[in-house]
Amino acid sequence: MLFEPYETEPYLDFSDPSTRQAFERTLDEVRSRLGRDYPLVIGGERVDTGEYLTSVDPCDPDRVVGRSAKGKGPEIERAMAAAQEAFETWSRLPMAHRARTLVKLAAVLRRRREELAAWEVFEASKNYLEAIADVAEAIDFCEYYARRSLKLAGPLPTYDVPGEENTSHLKALGVGVVIPPWNFLLAILVGTTVGPVAVGNTVILKPSPSTPIIAQKFMECVDEAGFPPGVINLLTGEDADLGDALVDHPRTRFINFTGSVATGLRINERAAKVHPGQNWIKRVFTEMGGKDALIVDETADLDLAADAAVAGAFGFQGQKCSAMSRLIVVDAVYDAVLERFLERARRLRVGPAEQNADVAAVINKKQYDKILAYIETGKQEARLVLGGGAAEGKGYFIQPTVFADVPQSATIACEEIFGPVVSVMKARDFDHAIELGNATMYGLTGGLCSRDRMRIERARDVFDVGNLYINRKITGSLVGIQPFGGFKLSGTNAKAGGPDYLRGFMEMKTVTERF
Ligand code: NAD
Repeated sequence: MLFEPYETEPYLDFSDPSTRQAFERTLDEVRSRLGRDYPLVIGGERVDTGEYLTSVDPCDPDRVVGRSAKGKGPEIERAMAAAQEAFETWSRLPMAHRARTLVKLAAVLRRRREELAAWEVFEASKNYLEAIADVAEAIDFCEYYARRSLKLAGPLPTYDVPGEENTSHLKALGVGVVIPPWNFLLAILVGTTVGPVAVGNTVILKPSPSTPIIAQKFMECVDEAGFPPGVINLLTGEDADLGDALVDHPRTRFINFTGSVATGLRINERAAKVHPGQNWIKRVFTEMGGKDALIVDETADLDLAADAAVAGAFGFQGQKCSAMSRLIVVDAVYDAVLERFLERARRLRVGPAEQNADVAAVINKKQYDKILAYIETGKQEARLVLGGGAAEGKGYFIQPTVFADVPQSATIACEEIFGPVVSVMKARDFDHAIELGNATMYGLTGGLCSRDRMRIERARDVFDVGNLYINRKITGSLVGIQPFGGFKLSGTNAKAGGPDYLRGFMEMKTVTERF
Protein backbone atom coordinates (compact mmCIF):
# COMPACT_ATOMS: atom_id res chain seq x y z
CA MET A 1 0.00 0.00 0.00
CA LEU A 2 1.26 3.45 -0.91
CA PHE A 3 -0.09 5.35 2.10
CA GLU A 4 -1.19 4.36 5.58
CA PRO A 5 -4.97 3.86 5.96
CA TYR A 6 -7.12 6.98 5.83
CA GLU A 7 -8.13 8.55 9.12
CA THR A 8 -9.86 11.85 9.76
CA GLU A 9 -7.84 14.66 11.27
CA PRO A 10 -8.52 15.14 14.99
CA TYR A 11 -9.75 18.50 16.29
CA LEU A 12 -8.17 20.40 19.15
CA ASP A 13 -9.66 20.32 22.62
CA PHE A 14 -10.11 23.95 23.55
CA SER A 15 -11.47 23.08 26.98
CA ASP A 16 -7.83 22.33 27.83
CA PRO A 17 -6.40 25.70 29.01
CA SER A 18 -2.97 25.08 27.50
CA THR A 19 -4.46 24.33 24.05
CA ARG A 20 -6.59 27.42 24.31
CA GLN A 21 -3.70 29.63 25.37
CA ALA A 22 -1.51 28.31 22.57
CA PHE A 23 -4.27 29.13 20.07
CA GLU A 24 -4.63 32.62 21.53
CA ARG A 25 -0.90 33.15 20.93
CA THR A 26 -1.41 32.07 17.30
CA LEU A 27 -4.28 34.55 17.06
CA ASP A 28 -1.94 37.30 18.33
CA GLU A 29 0.63 36.36 15.76
CA VAL A 30 -1.88 36.36 12.88
CA ARG A 31 -3.43 39.58 14.17
CA SER A 32 -0.04 41.25 13.72
CA ARG A 33 -0.06 40.18 10.04
CA LEU A 34 -3.52 41.47 9.12
CA GLY A 35 -3.96 44.17 6.51
CA ARG A 36 -1.43 43.06 3.89
CA ASP A 37 -1.85 43.01 0.10
CA TYR A 38 -1.77 39.84 -1.98
CA PRO A 39 -1.40 39.33 -5.77
CA LEU A 40 -3.11 36.82 -8.05
CA VAL A 41 -1.33 33.54 -8.73
CA ILE A 42 -1.22 32.60 -12.41
CA GLY A 43 1.08 29.91 -13.79
CA GLY A 44 3.08 30.08 -10.57
CA GLU A 45 3.71 33.81 -10.97
CA ARG A 46 2.49 36.51 -8.64
CA VAL A 47 0.43 39.00 -10.66
CA ASP A 48 -0.51 42.34 -9.20
CA THR A 49 -3.25 44.31 -10.93
CA GLY A 50 -3.13 47.48 -8.83
CA GLU A 51 -6.80 47.12 -7.81
CA TYR A 52 -7.88 45.24 -4.69
CA LEU A 53 -10.73 43.46 -3.01
CA THR A 54 -10.80 44.29 0.69
CA SER A 55 -11.53 41.49 3.12
CA VAL A 56 -12.70 42.63 6.57
CA ASP A 57 -13.34 40.98 9.91
CA PRO A 58 -17.14 40.51 10.21
CA CYS A 59 -16.86 41.05 13.98
CA ASP A 60 -15.13 44.39 13.39
CA PRO A 61 -15.63 45.60 9.82
CA ASP A 62 -13.09 48.41 10.35
CA ARG A 63 -10.38 45.80 10.66
CA VAL A 64 -8.91 44.83 7.29
CA VAL A 65 -7.85 41.18 7.17
CA GLY A 66 -6.09 41.75 3.87
CA ARG A 67 -6.50 42.97 0.32
CA SER A 68 -6.37 40.66 -2.65
CA ALA A 69 -5.76 41.75 -6.25
CA LYS A 70 -8.75 42.02 -8.53
CA GLY A 71 -8.51 39.92 -11.65
CA LYS A 72 -10.44 40.77 -14.81
CA GLY A 73 -10.57 39.74 -18.49
CA PRO A 74 -6.82 39.81 -19.27
CA GLU A 75 -6.02 37.77 -16.15
CA ILE A 76 -8.69 35.23 -17.09
CA GLU A 77 -7.02 34.73 -20.48
CA ARG A 78 -3.63 34.39 -18.85
CA ALA A 79 -4.89 31.90 -16.28
CA MET A 80 -6.68 29.83 -18.93
CA ALA A 81 -3.47 29.63 -20.97
CA ALA A 82 -1.39 28.70 -17.91
CA ALA A 83 -3.88 26.01 -16.84
CA GLN A 84 -4.04 24.61 -20.37
CA GLU A 85 -0.27 24.42 -20.62
CA ALA A 86 0.05 22.75 -17.22
CA PHE A 87 -2.69 20.27 -18.17
CA GLU A 88 -0.53 18.80 -20.94
CA THR A 89 1.98 17.45 -18.42
CA TRP A 90 -0.03 17.18 -15.19
CA SER A 91 -2.73 15.05 -16.78
CA ARG A 92 -0.13 12.57 -18.08
CA LEU A 93 1.63 11.96 -14.77
CA PRO A 94 1.07 8.67 -13.00
CA MET A 95 -1.81 8.84 -10.53
CA ALA A 96 0.55 8.03 -7.65
CA HIS A 97 2.74 11.05 -8.45
CA ARG A 98 -0.24 13.37 -8.10
CA ALA A 99 -1.53 11.48 -5.05
CA ARG A 100 1.79 12.05 -3.28
CA THR A 101 1.54 15.75 -4.04
CA LEU A 102 -1.85 15.81 -2.32
CA VAL A 103 -0.54 13.94 0.70
CA LYS A 104 2.33 16.44 0.86
CA LEU A 105 -0.21 19.27 0.71
CA ALA A 106 -2.08 17.66 3.61
CA ALA A 107 1.18 17.62 5.59
CA VAL A 108 1.80 21.31 4.88
CA LEU A 109 -1.77 22.22 5.88
CA ARG A 110 -1.37 20.13 9.04
CA ARG A 111 1.83 21.94 10.02
CA ARG A 112 0.05 25.27 9.57
CA ARG A 113 -3.23 24.07 11.07
CA GLU A 114 -3.52 26.52 13.98
CA GLU A 115 -2.35 29.45 11.88
CA LEU A 116 -4.89 28.71 9.13
CA ALA A 117 -7.63 28.36 11.74
CA ALA A 118 -6.63 31.74 13.16
CA TRP A 119 -7.03 33.36 9.73
CA GLU A 120 -10.53 31.85 9.61
CA VAL A 121 -11.39 33.39 12.97
CA PHE A 122 -10.60 36.82 11.55
CA GLU A 123 -11.81 36.46 7.99
CA ALA A 124 -15.04 34.49 8.49
CA SER A 125 -15.80 34.96 12.17
CA LYS A 126 -15.55 31.27 13.05
CA ASN A 127 -15.09 30.43 16.70
CA TYR A 128 -12.12 28.24 17.64
CA LEU A 129 -13.72 24.83 17.20
CA GLU A 130 -15.50 25.75 13.97
CA ALA A 131 -12.23 27.11 12.58
CA ILE A 132 -10.10 24.12 13.50
CA ALA A 133 -12.78 21.74 12.21
CA ASP A 134 -12.75 23.53 8.87
CA VAL A 135 -8.97 23.17 8.55
CA ALA A 136 -9.20 19.51 9.59
CA GLU A 137 -11.76 18.92 6.85
CA ALA A 138 -9.47 20.52 4.28
CA ILE A 139 -6.70 18.12 5.33
CA ASP A 140 -9.13 15.19 5.15
CA PHE A 141 -10.07 16.05 1.57
CA CYS A 142 -6.40 15.92 0.50
CA GLU A 143 -5.72 12.64 2.27
CA TYR A 144 -8.96 11.01 1.15
CA TYR A 145 -8.86 12.04 -2.51
CA ALA A 146 -5.19 11.04 -2.75
CA ARG A 147 -6.19 7.52 -1.77
CA ARG A 148 -9.36 7.40 -3.87
CA SER A 149 -7.54 8.60 -6.97
CA LEU A 150 -5.32 5.51 -6.91
CA LYS A 151 -8.41 3.37 -7.40
CA LEU A 152 -9.07 5.10 -10.72
CA ALA A 153 -5.59 4.60 -12.12
CA GLY A 154 -5.87 1.20 -13.75
CA PRO A 155 -7.94 -0.09 -16.64
CA LEU A 156 -11.62 -0.81 -15.99
CA PRO A 157 -12.86 -4.38 -16.19
CA THR A 158 -14.56 -5.35 -19.45
CA TYR A 159 -15.21 -8.68 -21.23
CA ASP A 160 -12.79 -10.02 -23.81
CA VAL A 161 -13.55 -11.31 -27.28
CA PRO A 162 -11.20 -13.66 -29.13
CA GLY A 163 -8.58 -12.00 -31.33
CA GLU A 164 -8.98 -8.53 -29.81
CA GLU A 165 -7.62 -6.56 -26.94
CA ASN A 166 -10.09 -4.15 -25.33
CA THR A 167 -9.02 -1.67 -22.68
CA SER A 168 -10.99 1.09 -21.01
CA HIS A 169 -9.40 3.66 -18.76
CA LEU A 170 -10.24 7.02 -17.25
CA LYS A 171 -8.67 10.35 -18.28
CA ALA A 172 -8.85 13.85 -16.91
CA LEU A 173 -11.25 16.30 -18.54
CA GLY A 174 -9.22 19.49 -18.94
CA VAL A 175 -9.23 22.97 -17.40
CA GLY A 176 -11.89 23.50 -14.77
CA VAL A 177 -13.21 26.50 -12.91
CA VAL A 178 -13.64 26.03 -9.16
CA ILE A 179 -16.13 28.33 -7.44
CA PRO A 180 -16.49 27.75 -3.68
CA PRO A 181 -18.57 29.70 -1.13
CA TRP A 182 -17.29 31.62 1.90
CA ASN A 183 -18.84 29.47 4.64
CA PHE A 184 -16.42 26.54 4.67
CA LEU A 185 -13.82 28.92 3.42
CA LEU A 186 -10.90 26.52 3.47
CA ALA A 187 -12.52 23.07 3.53
CA ILE A 188 -14.79 23.45 0.50
CA LEU A 189 -12.22 25.53 -1.35
CA VAL A 190 -9.62 22.81 -0.88
CA GLY A 191 -11.95 19.87 -1.50
CA THR A 192 -13.43 21.25 -4.70
CA THR A 193 -9.95 22.14 -5.96
CA VAL A 194 -7.88 19.08 -5.08
CA GLY A 195 -10.56 16.57 -6.12
CA PRO A 196 -10.40 17.38 -9.83
CA VAL A 197 -6.66 18.11 -9.59
CA ALA A 198 -5.93 14.68 -8.07
CA VAL A 199 -7.13 12.94 -11.22
CA GLY A 200 -5.19 15.14 -13.62
CA ASN A 201 -7.24 18.24 -14.26
CA THR A 202 -5.88 21.76 -13.83
CA VAL A 203 -7.99 24.56 -12.42
CA ILE A 204 -8.67 28.21 -11.99
CA LEU A 205 -9.78 28.75 -8.43
CA LYS A 206 -12.10 31.70 -7.92
CA PRO A 207 -12.90 32.09 -4.21
CA SER A 208 -15.75 34.10 -2.74
CA PRO A 209 -15.03 37.84 -2.63
CA SER A 210 -15.84 37.66 1.10
CA THR A 211 -12.92 35.33 1.89
CA PRO A 212 -10.00 35.81 -0.51
CA ILE A 213 -7.24 35.83 2.10
CA ILE A 214 -7.65 32.21 3.18
CA ALA A 215 -7.36 31.36 -0.54
CA GLN A 216 -4.05 33.23 -0.57
CA LYS A 217 -2.85 31.22 2.42
CA PHE A 218 -3.89 28.05 0.62
CA MET A 219 -1.80 29.06 -2.40
CA GLU A 220 1.23 29.45 -0.12
CA CYS A 221 0.66 25.83 0.95
CA VAL A 222 0.21 24.74 -2.69
CA ASP A 223 3.63 26.23 -3.48
CA GLU A 224 5.22 24.62 -0.49
CA ALA A 225 3.74 21.24 -1.41
CA GLY A 226 5.44 21.46 -4.81
CA PHE A 227 2.54 21.60 -7.25
CA PRO A 228 3.86 22.52 -10.70
CA PRO A 229 3.04 26.07 -11.86
CA GLY A 230 -0.34 26.42 -13.57
CA VAL A 231 -1.98 23.38 -11.99
CA ILE A 232 -3.86 25.58 -9.49
CA ASN A 233 -4.28 29.22 -10.46
CA LEU A 234 -5.87 31.78 -8.18
CA LEU A 235 -8.11 34.54 -9.51
CA THR A 236 -9.66 36.73 -6.85
CA GLY A 237 -11.99 39.56 -7.78
CA GLU A 238 -15.54 40.77 -8.14
CA ASP A 239 -18.28 38.39 -9.23
CA ALA A 240 -19.29 40.86 -11.94
CA ASP A 241 -15.82 40.65 -13.50
CA LEU A 242 -15.08 36.98 -13.04
CA GLY A 243 -18.26 34.92 -12.57
CA ASP A 244 -19.97 34.84 -15.95
CA ALA A 245 -16.71 35.32 -17.85
CA LEU A 246 -15.16 32.18 -16.37
CA VAL A 247 -18.34 30.14 -16.75
CA ASP A 248 -18.84 31.24 -20.37
CA HIS A 249 -15.22 30.84 -21.42
CA PRO A 250 -14.82 28.40 -24.33
CA ARG A 251 -11.77 26.79 -22.70
CA THR A 252 -13.67 25.93 -19.52
CA ARG A 253 -14.21 22.17 -19.53
CA PHE A 254 -16.05 21.87 -16.23
CA ILE A 255 -17.32 24.01 -13.38
CA ASN A 256 -17.15 22.83 -9.79
CA PHE A 257 -19.50 25.13 -7.91
CA THR A 258 -20.76 25.24 -4.35
CA GLY A 259 -23.06 28.06 -3.29
CA SER A 260 -26.61 29.33 -3.46
CA VAL A 261 -29.39 28.04 -5.69
CA ALA A 262 -29.64 31.36 -7.52
CA THR A 263 -25.98 31.35 -8.56
CA GLY A 264 -25.89 27.61 -9.20
CA LEU A 265 -28.88 27.69 -11.54
CA ARG A 266 -27.45 30.67 -13.36
CA ILE A 267 -24.17 28.81 -13.87
CA ASN A 268 -25.98 25.68 -15.00
CA GLU A 269 -27.96 27.62 -17.58
CA ARG A 270 -25.05 29.62 -18.94
CA ALA A 271 -22.74 26.64 -19.08
CA ALA A 272 -25.18 24.84 -21.37
CA LYS A 273 -24.36 27.21 -24.23
CA VAL A 274 -21.56 26.13 -26.55
CA HIS A 275 -19.41 29.11 -27.50
CA PRO A 276 -17.31 29.50 -30.68
CA GLY A 277 -14.09 27.50 -30.34
CA GLN A 278 -15.57 25.21 -27.68
CA ASN A 279 -15.53 21.55 -28.64
CA TRP A 280 -17.32 20.00 -25.69
CA ILE A 281 -20.34 20.14 -23.44
CA LYS A 282 -19.27 21.64 -20.13
CA ARG A 283 -19.73 19.42 -17.13
CA VAL A 284 -21.34 21.29 -14.26
CA PHE A 285 -21.37 20.34 -10.60
CA THR A 286 -23.61 22.56 -8.51
CA GLU A 287 -23.83 21.88 -4.80
CA MET A 288 -26.41 24.31 -3.48
CA GLY A 289 -28.53 25.38 -0.52
CA GLY A 290 -30.70 23.72 2.08
CA LYS A 291 -33.70 24.27 4.32
CA ASP A 292 -32.83 21.45 6.63
CA ALA A 293 -35.20 19.99 9.19
CA LEU A 294 -34.83 17.97 12.35
CA ILE A 295 -37.92 15.93 13.21
CA VAL A 296 -38.61 15.01 16.82
CA ASP A 297 -41.30 12.48 17.70
CA GLU A 298 -42.89 11.56 21.03
CA THR A 299 -40.59 8.58 21.59
CA ALA A 300 -37.40 10.64 21.34
CA ASP A 301 -34.91 11.43 24.08
CA LEU A 302 -35.97 15.05 24.36
CA ASP A 303 -32.72 16.30 25.87
CA LEU A 304 -30.70 14.70 23.11
CA ALA A 305 -33.09 16.27 20.58
CA ALA A 306 -32.72 19.72 22.13
CA ASP A 307 -28.90 19.44 22.19
CA ALA A 308 -28.89 18.33 18.55
CA ALA A 309 -31.22 21.16 17.59
CA VAL A 310 -29.11 23.88 19.23
CA ALA A 311 -25.84 22.57 17.80
CA GLY A 312 -27.34 22.22 14.33
CA ALA A 313 -29.09 25.56 14.34
CA PHE A 314 -26.59 27.97 15.80
CA GLY A 315 -23.14 26.51 15.10
CA PHE A 316 -21.28 29.07 12.95
CA GLN A 317 -24.29 31.36 13.30
CA GLY A 318 -26.49 29.03 11.25
CA GLN A 319 -24.40 29.69 8.15
CA LYS A 320 -24.02 26.07 7.12
CA CYS A 321 -25.79 24.54 4.16
CA SER A 322 -26.57 21.69 6.57
CA ALA A 323 -27.82 23.98 9.37
CA MET A 324 -31.04 23.05 11.11
CA SER A 325 -33.36 25.86 10.13
CA ARG A 326 -36.59 23.96 10.82
CA LEU A 327 -37.39 22.05 13.97
CA ILE A 328 -40.47 19.91 13.32
CA VAL A 329 -42.00 18.45 16.48
CA VAL A 330 -45.00 16.19 16.86
CA ASP A 331 -47.86 17.66 18.83
CA ALA A 332 -47.53 15.34 21.85
CA VAL A 333 -44.08 16.69 22.81
CA TYR A 334 -44.13 20.07 21.07
CA ASP A 335 -44.19 22.24 24.18
CA ALA A 336 -41.62 20.13 26.00
CA VAL A 337 -39.14 20.21 23.10
CA LEU A 338 -39.65 23.91 22.47
CA GLU A 339 -38.98 24.65 26.13
CA ARG A 340 -35.79 22.56 26.22
CA PHE A 341 -34.59 24.05 22.94
CA LEU A 342 -35.16 27.62 24.15
CA GLU A 343 -33.56 26.95 27.51
CA ARG A 344 -30.34 25.88 25.76
CA ALA A 345 -30.44 28.57 23.07
CA ARG A 346 -30.79 31.27 25.74
CA ARG A 347 -27.44 30.22 27.20
CA LEU A 348 -25.51 30.90 23.97
CA ARG A 349 -23.03 33.76 24.19
CA VAL A 350 -23.03 36.18 21.26
CA GLY A 351 -19.74 37.99 20.69
CA PRO A 352 -16.47 38.22 18.79
CA ALA A 353 -15.05 35.05 17.26
CA GLU A 354 -11.59 35.89 18.58
CA GLN A 355 -13.05 35.59 22.08
CA ASN A 356 -14.47 32.21 21.09
CA ALA A 357 -18.13 33.22 21.45
CA ASP A 358 -20.75 30.55 20.74
CA VAL A 359 -22.39 32.76 18.15
CA ALA A 360 -20.23 35.36 16.39
CA ALA A 361 -20.94 37.80 13.56
CA VAL A 362 -22.51 36.81 10.25
CA ILE A 363 -20.30 37.12 7.22
CA ASN A 364 -21.08 40.54 5.74
CA LYS A 365 -23.43 43.51 5.62
CA LYS A 366 -25.48 42.04 2.78
CA GLN A 367 -26.19 38.82 4.69
CA TYR A 368 -26.77 40.78 7.91
CA ASP A 369 -29.44 42.94 6.25
CA LYS A 370 -30.98 39.93 4.53
CA ILE A 371 -31.23 37.91 7.75
CA LEU A 372 -32.70 40.86 9.67
CA ALA A 373 -35.28 41.32 6.89
CA TYR A 374 -36.26 37.64 7.20
CA ILE A 375 -36.65 38.14 10.95
CA GLU A 376 -39.04 41.02 10.31
CA THR A 377 -41.00 38.83 7.88
CA GLY A 378 -41.07 36.09 10.52
CA LYS A 379 -42.65 38.48 13.01
CA GLN A 380 -45.61 38.81 10.64
CA GLU A 381 -45.82 35.09 9.99
CA ALA A 382 -45.28 33.37 13.34
CA ARG A 383 -44.71 33.75 17.09
CA LEU A 384 -41.30 35.15 18.04
CA VAL A 385 -40.03 33.32 21.13
CA LEU A 386 -36.33 34.21 21.21
CA GLY A 387 -34.09 36.99 19.91
CA GLY A 388 -35.58 38.89 17.04
CA GLY A 389 -32.97 41.39 15.93
CA ALA A 390 -29.42 42.63 15.88
CA ALA A 391 -27.18 41.91 18.85
CA GLU A 392 -24.84 44.44 20.43
CA GLY A 393 -21.41 45.01 19.03
CA LYS A 394 -19.52 46.71 16.25
CA GLY A 395 -19.83 43.79 13.83
CA TYR A 396 -22.63 41.97 12.09
CA PHE A 397 -24.03 40.32 15.21
CA ILE A 398 -27.51 38.84 15.23
CA GLN A 399 -29.31 37.32 18.20
CA PRO A 400 -30.11 33.63 18.06
CA THR A 401 -33.72 33.86 16.94
CA VAL A 402 -36.53 31.32 17.23
CA PHE A 403 -40.03 31.48 15.82
CA ALA A 404 -42.64 29.04 17.10
CA ASP A 405 -45.88 27.78 15.51
CA VAL A 406 -44.55 28.50 12.05
CA PRO A 407 -47.02 27.42 9.34
CA GLN A 408 -45.77 25.52 6.32
CA SER A 409 -46.86 28.38 4.06
CA ALA A 410 -44.57 30.91 5.82
CA THR A 411 -41.64 32.38 3.91
CA ILE A 412 -39.37 31.57 6.85
CA ALA A 413 -40.41 27.91 6.60
CA CYS A 414 -39.52 27.67 2.90
CA GLU A 415 -36.59 29.94 2.06
CA GLU A 416 -32.97 29.47 3.09
CA ILE A 417 -32.13 32.27 5.54
CA PHE A 418 -28.53 31.28 6.26
CA GLY A 419 -28.32 32.84 9.68
CA PRO A 420 -29.14 32.08 13.34
CA VAL A 421 -32.89 31.83 12.76
CA VAL A 422 -35.03 28.75 13.43
CA SER A 423 -38.63 27.96 12.53
CA VAL A 424 -40.27 25.58 14.99
CA MET A 425 -43.20 23.77 13.39
CA LYS A 426 -45.88 21.58 14.92
CA ALA A 427 -46.79 18.30 13.23
CA ARG A 428 -49.93 16.31 14.00
CA ASP A 429 -47.99 13.05 14.03
CA PHE A 430 -44.92 11.39 12.57
CA ASP A 431 -46.34 11.07 9.03
CA HIS A 432 -47.26 14.73 9.00
CA ALA A 433 -43.76 15.58 10.25
CA ILE A 434 -42.21 13.75 7.30
CA GLU A 435 -44.61 15.50 4.95
CA LEU A 436 -43.53 18.88 6.34
CA GLY A 437 -39.88 17.84 6.24
CA ASN A 438 -40.13 17.08 2.53
CA ALA A 439 -42.19 20.15 1.66
CA THR A 440 -39.41 22.38 0.33
CA MET A 441 -37.50 22.61 -2.94
CA TYR A 442 -34.36 21.53 -1.09
CA GLY A 443 -33.19 18.08 0.03
CA LEU A 444 -29.79 18.49 1.60
CA THR A 445 -29.67 17.31 5.22
CA GLY A 446 -32.36 16.16 7.59
CA GLY A 447 -32.61 14.45 10.92
CA LEU A 448 -34.88 12.37 13.07
CA CYS A 449 -34.86 11.97 16.83
CA SER A 450 -36.91 8.90 17.68
CA ARG A 451 -36.69 5.57 19.46
CA ASP A 452 -39.26 3.92 17.22
CA ARG A 453 -37.54 1.43 14.90
CA MET A 454 -40.42 1.39 12.39
CA ARG A 455 -40.29 5.15 12.05
CA ILE A 456 -36.51 5.27 11.81
CA GLU A 457 -36.67 2.74 8.99
CA ARG A 458 -39.44 4.72 7.29
CA ALA A 459 -37.42 7.93 7.52
CA ARG A 460 -34.45 6.14 5.95
CA ASP A 461 -36.72 5.40 3.02
CA VAL A 462 -38.92 8.46 2.55
CA PHE A 463 -37.17 11.48 4.08
CA ASP A 464 -35.95 12.97 0.83
CA VAL A 465 -32.49 14.28 1.73
CA GLY A 466 -28.96 13.43 0.65
CA ASN A 467 -27.68 13.27 4.24
CA LEU A 468 -30.00 11.90 6.90
CA TYR A 469 -28.93 11.83 10.54
CA ILE A 470 -30.70 9.76 13.20
CA ASN A 471 -30.49 10.76 16.86
CA ARG A 472 -27.70 13.32 16.48
CA LYS A 473 -27.09 16.81 15.10
CA ILE A 474 -27.52 17.27 11.37
CA THR A 475 -24.28 19.18 10.72
CA GLY A 476 -20.63 18.16 10.72
CA SER A 477 -20.28 15.50 8.02
CA LEU A 478 -16.86 13.88 7.88
CA VAL A 479 -14.87 13.31 4.70
CA GLY A 480 -14.87 9.67 3.65
CA ILE A 481 -17.40 8.79 6.34
CA GLN A 482 -20.49 10.80 5.45
CA PRO A 483 -20.25 11.68 1.72
CA PHE A 484 -21.92 15.05 1.47
CA GLY A 485 -24.46 16.32 -1.05
CA GLY A 486 -28.17 16.65 -1.46
CA PHE A 487 -31.21 15.95 -3.58
CA LYS A 488 -33.69 18.18 -5.42
CA LEU A 489 -32.55 21.80 -5.76
CA SER A 490 -29.80 21.22 -3.22
CA GLY A 491 -27.67 20.17 -6.13
CA THR A 492 -26.18 17.61 -8.44
CA ASN A 493 -25.39 15.15 -5.63
CA ALA A 494 -21.66 15.10 -6.41
CA LYS A 495 -21.17 13.77 -2.85
CA ALA A 496 -18.03 15.56 -1.70
CA GLY A 497 -15.82 13.28 0.34
CA GLY A 498 -17.50 10.24 -1.17
CA PRO A 499 -16.16 7.27 -3.09
CA ASP A 500 -17.56 8.37 -6.47
CA TYR A 501 -16.60 12.04 -6.33
CA LEU A 502 -13.46 11.91 -8.44
CA ARG A 503 -15.06 9.92 -11.25
CA GLY A 504 -17.11 13.00 -12.20
CA PHE A 505 -13.94 14.81 -13.24
CA MET A 506 -12.87 12.11 -15.66
CA GLU A 507 -13.98 10.57 -18.93
CA MET A 508 -13.47 7.07 -20.20
CA LYS A 509 -11.50 6.06 -23.26
CA THR A 510 -11.85 2.62 -24.79
CA VAL A 511 -9.21 1.21 -27.12
CA THR A 512 -9.84 -1.88 -29.22
CA GLU A 513 -7.01 -3.57 -31.08
CA ARG A 514 -7.64 -6.55 -33.34
CA PHE A 515 -4.67 -8.85 -33.73
P1 NAD B 1 -23.18 32.42 -3.61
O1 NAD B 1 -24.02 31.67 -4.57
O2 NAD B 1 -23.47 33.84 -3.38
O3 NAD B 1 -21.65 32.36 -4.08
C1 NAD B 1 -20.97 31.15 -4.27
C2 NAD B 1 -19.79 31.38 -5.18
O4 NAD B 1 -20.28 31.79 -6.46
C3 NAD B 1 -18.86 32.50 -4.72
O5 NAD B 1 -17.52 32.16 -5.03
C4 NAD B 1 -19.31 33.66 -5.57
O6 NAD B 1 -18.29 34.62 -5.72
C5 NAD B 1 -19.61 32.96 -6.87
N1 NAD B 1 -20.46 33.68 -7.82
C6 NAD B 1 -21.35 34.68 -7.57
N2 NAD B 1 -21.94 35.06 -8.73
C7 NAD B 1 -21.43 34.28 -9.71
C8 NAD B 1 -21.67 34.18 -11.11
N3 NAD B 1 -22.55 34.94 -11.75
N4 NAD B 1 -20.97 33.27 -11.80
C9 NAD B 1 -20.09 32.47 -11.19
N5 NAD B 1 -19.83 32.51 -9.87
C10 NAD B 1 -20.49 33.41 -9.14
O7 NAD B 1 -23.18 31.61 -2.25
P2 NAD B 1 -22.45 32.01 -0.89
O8 NAD B 1 -23.23 33.08 -0.22
O9 NAD B 1 -21.00 32.20 -1.11
O10 NAD B 1 -22.59 30.65 -0.06
C11 NAD B 1 -23.73 30.31 0.67
C12 NAD B 1 -24.56 29.30 -0.09
O11 NAD B 1 -23.81 28.14 -0.37
C13 NAD B 1 -25.76 28.83 0.69
O12 NAD B 1 -26.88 28.76 -0.16
C14 NAD B 1 -25.35 27.43 1.16
O13 NAD B 1 -26.43 26.57 1.43
C15 NAD B 1 -24.54 26.98 -0.02
N6 NAD B 1 -23.64 25.89 0.34
C16 NAD B 1 -23.90 24.64 -0.14
C17 NAD B 1 -23.08 23.57 0.20
C18 NAD B 1 -23.33 22.19 -0.33
O14 NAD B 1 -22.44 21.35 -0.24
N7 NAD B 1 -24.49 21.90 -0.87
C19 NAD B 1 -21.98 23.79 1.01
C20 NAD B 1 -21.73 25.10 1.48
C21 NAD B 1 -22.56 26.13 1.12
